[in-house]
Amino acid sequence: MPEIMSHPSLPSQPRLPIQPELPELPEIVAARPTPRGLRILDEPDRGATRAMQARPERLSVPGGTTRPIQPSSSISPGPQLPPHPLTDAFGRRLTYLRVSVTDRCNLRCTYCLPEDADFPFGDRDFLRPEEIEAMVGALVRLGIRRVRLTGGEPLVRKDIVEIARRVKALPGVENLALSTNGTELARLAEPLRAAGVDRVNISLDSLDADRFRAITRRGSLEAVWNGVEAALAAGFSPVKLNAVLLSRQNLEDVDRLVELTLDRPLSVRFIEMMPTASNRHLQPDEYVSSDLVKQRIEARFGKLLPLDPDQAGPRTGPAAAYQLAGAQGAVGFITPLSHTFCANCNRLRLTARGELRLCLFADRVYPLRHLLEDSADALETEILRVLHEKPAEHMLAKGDYGNLVSFMEIGG
Ligand code: SAM
Repeated sequence: MPEIMSHPSLPSQPRLPIQPELPELPEIVAARPTPRGLRILDEPDRGATRAMQARPERLSVPGGTTRPIQPSSSISPGPQLPPHPLTDAFGRRLTYLRVSVTDRCNLRCTYCLPEDADFPFGDRDFLRPEEIEAMVGALVRLGIRRVRLTGGEPLVRKDIVEIARRVKALPGVENLALSTNGTELARLAEPLRAAGVDRVNISLDSLDADRFRAITRRGSLEAVWNGVEAALAAGFSPVKLNAVLLSRQNLEDVDRLVELTLDRPLSVRFIEMMPTASNRHLQPDEYVSSDLVKQRIEARFGKLLPLDPDQAGPRTGPAAAYQLAGAQGAVGFITPLSHTFCANCNRLRLTARGELRLCLFADRVYPLRHLLEDSADALETEILRVLHEKPAEHMLAKGDYGNLVSFMEIGG
């Protein structure tokens, strides 16, 4: 077993019982300036049961044309389950919602945003807490059970604690998670936990202060590490650390990040960098497959043992999770490029301005905000009406990255 290299600013860690759990898709987000004047295809609502009906023969695509749906060979019917309103055309039951509360961020990570990123939308454009509550409420009534607040950086919103409290209070929300870059977490961990947030994911791409600063262009490793400590102390479970793999910027950090899992109840997940308009120039040099990194970890630390599914609970995300022998924490790999996971997709996304996004890489979004003023069930009706347009899979492997600008706009 290698010597454990503690980070200099890491005093003794509170030891919380780890609840190993297979990681979820990171706060990976599709982003492009929201298409304006979207024409919602298809006819007006034909009732809430429509999305539960057989797969439609034609799939709507942006621009108003349709093309035949190609059956996805990777999606199998699965076992018989009770009806679930949020079931898409391929039989996938959608139970997980990621809510972006802002597209603003106080960092400018090299793989995510340009240095001079411009945010075209004003604060007033973002959904207010009561609007988020109403929209999430409609989705929860249809079957969403787990919700994640993300961004942008959700903790730059002054009302983030109120948002968390309102969402967690919705009957049917079984689990509330938050994704953050951690810069404000030392201050907000306690209030967020008190508001009902169950778990946090913290982006942490390097444990070296200089490299961290270079990658984030303005972040302080110390501030983020204080946030990690505060999250552990506040009792979030699990606390996950997400590192995007960058061949020329942080491969040296892989070992130290893995070492964190030996004696701390932390789940460290390595994410393959996904191409967007903002980072395409980096992709050829920076992309590293997680298989390569896994081999490297095993060469240094020994076998990564797959987490027992019974112990880990139902698998809800695309990450493969492992543990080093005797470790308290877990190591995961999120592999949107090398191993796709669309067949098990269980998620929907809500943008900070109240649009529904059915797939991370789909170009279309469906405005919902205007329906808040309509009858109580208008939102639910519209959601069910468009649900069947959720595509079978993304086309990354075929080189089609859609129109992503950055992951920042929708927050994954
Ligand atoms: N600000 C929050 C955070 O830092 O976690 C939430 C939003 S951030 C966009 C969510 C996650 O997406 C982070 O873990 C970030 O590292 C990851 N991410 C951003 N751009 C990415 C890309 N091109 N490929 C893979 N992951 C990316």
